[in-house]
Amino acid sequence: KKARYAALRDVPSVTKDGQKVALLINAGLRDDALAIGLSGAEGIGLFRTEFQFLISATLPQRERQQRFYREVLDAAGDKPVIFRTIDVGGDKALPYLKHISEEEENPAMGWRALRLALDQEGLMKAQARALLEAAAGRNLNVMFPMVSEPWEFDAAKQVFEAQLEYLTARKKQLPSRIRYGAMLEVPALAEMLDLLLPKIDFLSIGTNDLTQFLFAADRADPRLAERYDWLSPAILRFIRRIVIACEEHKVDLTVCGEMGGRTLEAMALVGIGLRRLSITPAAVGAIKAMVRSLDSEAIAVEMETILSSPSGNIRDRLNQWATSQGV
Ligand code: PEP
Ligand code: MG
Repeated sequence: KKARYAALRDVPSVTKDGQKVALLINAGLRDDALAIGLSGAEGIGLFRTEFQFLISATLPQRERQQRFYREVLDAAGDKPVIFRTIDVGGDKALPYLKHISEEEENPAMGWRALRLALDQEGLMKAQARALLEAAAGRNLNVMFPMVSEPWEFDAAKQVFEAQLEYLTARKKQLPSRIRYGAMLEVPALAEMLDLLLPKIDFLSIGTNDLTQFLFAADRADPRLAERYDWLSPAILRFIRRIVIACEEHKVDLTVCGEMGGRTLEAMALVGIGLRRLSITPAAVGAIKAMVRSLDSEAIAVEMETILSSPSGNIRDRLNQWATSQGV
């Protein structure tokens, strides 16, 4: 199998009926960027910038961040990188920032990610400037985690725009183009897409957090891991509504949670209209093989049937369907 996947590295990720399904990778360390070449992915769809903060003994200063982001862009070459701004707090504590590491009853729902970054503006400003400087002369894609209401996106973008003005006033070289996106992992945001979508350049669904919030089930609790399946009609219908809204507003949509790296789940996602998946590098071969053996029309019909009257175990149904279709 490994050899078969390696042979697929340089062939396009398209379905049998010619629908392109872009495969990108999730990364967080400098060397992860090298996996783009090895896996044959189209770019980095989620670069978790907090890794650098989590593995460091001291707060990474702006200069150090800037060097790091530049190295990532260098390693990615002409392929796009989507940098997600810092997602710490809650259970991802930073020992060197004691004042933000207080114990919380429900850390996943606590003071974390963009909430924390907007309150601790120094952290966000330094990161914004480091990213803008690192991408001088190149494209910069920035994505904000845990956006729960549209104004949070505006506020986060404003931090970047202020740094951009600062650099412009000092005649520094700027990125050639900047695109701003939001993660959808808090269900409330899905109710506000009519307001959010006109202002963003792209949207990315974080299915890890989204699932735990939709089902009110801790993603880290092994006793619940088996109970709430990614292939449940609630999740698939929920994502389907987001797909439709993004199609209407012509906004690029990606799924960047672990769900997209599993074969059956990825097949279901393509069936409800997803055309971009950001996944763990090790899964690129298997997902591309699935995509190339899939008929996008046929899986769309099958998903429509399943989701209009869900019954039985969807995982079993999709497994049988895949076998019958030679997927
Ligand atoms: C997610 O929540 O699905 C996601 C991609 O982000 P993280 O796993 O880093 O929380
Ligand atoms: Mg998340």
